[in-house]
Amino acid sequence: MVPYGELSREQLLRMKEELEKQYEDVKGKGLKLDMSRGKPAAAQLDLAMGMMDVLNSSADLKCEAGIDCRNYGVLDGIPEAKRLLGAMSEVDPDSIIIYGNSSLNVMFDTVARSMTHGVCGSTPWCKLDNVKFLCPVPGYDRHFAVTEYFGIEMINVPMLSTGPDMDLVEKLVSEDASIKGIWCVPKYSNPQGITYSDETVRRFARLKPAAKDFRIYWDNAYSIHHLYEDDQDFLIEILGECAKAGNPDLVYKFTSTSKVSFPGSGIAAVAASPANLEDFKRHMQFQTIGHDKLNELRHVRFFKDLDGLTAHMKKHADIMRPKFEAVINVLEKELQGTGIGSWIAPKGGYFISFDAMEGCAKAIVAKAKEAGLVMTGAGATFPYGKDPKDSNIRIAPSYPTPEELAVAADIFVLSVKLVSIDKILE
Ligand code: PLP
Repeated sequence: MVPYGELSREQLLRMKEELEKQYEDVKGKGLKLDMSRGKPAAAQLDLAMGMMDVLNSSADLKCEAGIDCRNYGVLDGIPEAKRLLGAMSEVDPDSIIIYGNSSLNVMFDTVARSMTHGVCGSTPWCKLDNVKFLCPVPGYDRHFAVTEYFGIEMINVPMLSTGPDMDLVEKLVSEDASIKGIWCVPKYSNPQGITYSDETVRRFARLKPAAKDFRIYWDNAYSIHHLYEDDQDFLIEILGECAKAGNPDLVYKFTSTSKVSFPGSGIAAVAASPANLEDFKRHMQFQTIGHDKLNELRHVRFFKDLDGLTAHMKKHADIMRPKFEAVINVLEKELQGTGIGSWIAPKGGYFISFDAMEGCAKAIVAKAKEAGLVMTGAGATFPYGKDPKDSNIRIAPSYPTPEELAVAADIFVLSVKLVSIDKILE
């Protein structure tokens, strides 16, 4: 395909006329499509319906420690749930605390606790003049919303194909003691689907932050969410890497089964060093007498072990793969070589990240909406909702059917083409 930038004004105008006809046709169909939500489809949720049967009125509701899961108690999770989530997080069960139904909630809580009570005995952040977080961009909007909610200043760090720009991360954290954390989605990142390279993980583990209460918020939300069994990304386990580097307390590792079992009804966990886990528990004992042990039991009885989780996620992949491929195929067919957009075909996770020509993302999302396709708001992948280049758009292919996706992808590329032509003609 000829790059749009090399076409003459007349050629572009002719193309625009043709594309506008197609656009009006689609618009006339009154479609209602949605590529904005990173939610599993009903078919994926159906896969876990057996969880509803493993605990019934005749089931033994004691955990393996002999504790009645119907009653109060066990602050940090039943042993078999720690084993299951430990295996999923590639850490020892002793390095895990099981929480409630949401890892985002644990992250929020962790920031809240650091604000009010500090980190492992250090000055509470609310007593400091400046508190800052590094935010690899594009990233997960809800991470940024948490730090914005607490008035924490966010600093953009560009994502590279290997993960965050580590030269910049190392420089910033070593120079500025008001930088207290960094948000990371290290595997199949939201939204680019990038997995941090071995070198990036090792550099993270060897960071020398000026602030002793600096922590890496390692949100491994997509650790087992592969699309291809025989073509997976691998991520080095960071907790062990930090210990090896003599920095055992540097990282909090978050995970959950939200996109394994049921979003909103899964189980969440944090893995960390003994000192950090003590810090978590010191506060947790005032928050709750214990989380939902029946849900922990339900997960263990259904999935059993890591092999059970892996087998289950293969079934998820069989549903997700055709959807991702439907979108990628349309992007490749319609936009490859045009110079008006770029994307990464991910090997896992929940999203495809699209970079339009600068200054076009908002207009593309609006154009798609006019034709009946809802996308994630442009800018959402940046702190404060501000994409300095107005270029990044997050595509979420999981929820619609493959047929709906093919139509949705067509509307999307039509919108990209029309907006880009206008930009070039400006
Ligand atoms: N972390 C990331 C990177 C996510 O993309 C999401 C959901 O989209 C979450 C966390 C939410 O996790 P949970 O349901 O465990 O709160």
